[in-house]
Amino acid sequence: MSDCIFCKIASKEIPSPLVYEDDTVVAFPDLEPKAPVHILVIPKKHIESLAALKEEDKELAAHILVDVIPQIARDLGIAEKGFRTVANTSDDGGQTVKHLHFHLLGGRFMQWPPG
Ligand code: AMP
Ligand code: ZN
Repeated sequence: MSDCIFCKIASKEIPSPLVYEDDTVVAFPDLEPKAPVHILVIPKKHIESLAALKEEDKELAAHILVDVIPQIARDLGIAEKGFRTVANTSDDGGQTVKHLHFHLLGGRFMQWPPG
C-alpha cells in the first residue's frame, strides 16, 4: 500500500535497522520502545490486521509465530527469561498502524492486565 509506513519500511523506502529479514517478513525496533527490547515483526505483504488474515495467509502467520518470533527472541537474549508478544487489533485493540504487526517486548517484567 503506497501510503503505509510499514510497507515503506518493508520495501526499504524508509530505512530502518532491521533485526531480521527473510522473503516474507521483516523485523525492526519500535520507534518509541516500551521495554529494553521492543521489536516489531511484520509481514512484507500488506495485511491490515490480525482480523484481516485470510486462509491463504495461514503459512505466513504460522511462520511468524513458529519460526520468526522465537528466533528473534533467542537472538536478542530474551527467550530464556521470557517475553510478551502483542498484536493490537483495530480501534478497541489500540492499533495505530494499520499494517499487521507483532510487538515483541522483553528485557523487563511485564505487568498484567494492560491499560
Ligand atoms: P500499534 O499501536 O500496535 O499499532 O503499534 C504501532 C507501533 O509502531 C507503535 O509502537 C509506534 O511506536 C511504532 N512506529 C510507528 N512508526 C514507526 C516507525 N517509522 N518505525 C518504527 N516504529 C514505528
Ligand atoms: Zn502496509
